Amino acid sequence: MRADTAARIAEAIRAAESIFIAAHENPDGDAVGSLLALRSILLGLGKRVHAATPTAPPDRFVYLEGFEAISTDPPAERPQLGIGLDCDGSDRLGALEEALLAAEVVVDVDHHGGPETFGDIRLVDPTAASTTMLVMEIARALGIERPSPEQASALYTGLIADTGCFRFTNTSPEALRLGAELVAAGADPSELSRRVFTIRPIEAVLLEGRALSSLRLLEGGVAIASLALDDFAQTGASQELTEGIIDNFRDAIGVHAAALLKESEPGTWQVSMRGNGVDVATVAREFGGGGHTFAAGCTIEGSREAAEERLSAALQRAVREAASG
Ligand code: 5GP
Ligand code: MN
Repeated sequence: MRADTAARIAEAIRAAESIFIAAHENPDGDAVGSLLALRSILLGLGKRVHAATPTAPPDRFVYLEGFEAISTDPPAERPQLGIGLDCDGSDRLGALEEALLAAEVVVDVDHHGGPETFGDIRLVDPTAASTTMLVMEIARALGIERPSPEQASALYTGLIADTGCFRFTNTSPEALRLGAELVAAGADPSELSRRVFTIRPIEAVLLEGRALSSLRLLEGGVAIASLALDDFAQTGASQELTEGIIDNFRDAIGVHAAALLKESEPGTWQVSMRGNGVDVATVAREFGGGGHTFAAGCTIEGSREAAEERLSAALQRAVREAASG
């Protein structure tokens, strides 16, 4: 079924001249990787491509071909084809949503399990480890068996970003096989894992220190930490430097669910959640967010204490439900 859908998308691509491709706000490695791999593939077919994310991508992905071409604006004209990438619902496209949905043909390419799929053609497969795996399906449907080294690097970036470099539960035989294929096509695994995961500014290390010193383990194995605006100001760290901090909490023995609250504006907290066999997507949805079963997020308003309190109560309930179910 996935191959059929990819073939329909390939047909739509062949039929279009102007194509608008966009990925979600606060784009991660999978969003940027799928956007730039697809951009390169479409340019190779001679298409006019406008690639955008509603908020600028993090600098750590500057090594990817086409990075500087990513816009934060919608295209000047109504596109013939609009392709949304890695979006759990079209609202993840923020200010670009309207322009994308206005395309003559709209395509949703995603691997989230949420109910909010969109568009005329929907290549949505929650069993895919990354959206870049689905972009590779589209490439195959277009007759591209071996991506260029630059395309392979972008596809591999998404694959390792979303599998935690082949460590998470979504690391399937298919994901590993695609990884091998992409390395054979020119993706450099050691360099790319360093780029995606290990190198970081000193401000990120200082910020992690603050997150760790705020970390508390509550009854039921719920770990909760928060970073207030002052923590960002004192360390000189930007919001995007919080990436990865939450994943370390989950690894502490005895932690069943973890949350990191990041204050983005006074009294507004962007929350990252992780579960160890605990469904945190349902908790995220309760607060108007979403995501994957074991990795989800939402936004909460209120004081630090109130936000932590509401969230930990919901997570403790989710832990109890996981234990009884
Ligand atoms: P992270 O904690 O790494 O930022 O996000 C984990 C997962 O939750 C990602 O798949 C991301 O798309 C999703 N997510 C994070 N924040 C939100 C949010 O505010 N709304 C929705 N719908 N999903 C979110
Ligand atoms: Mn993804």
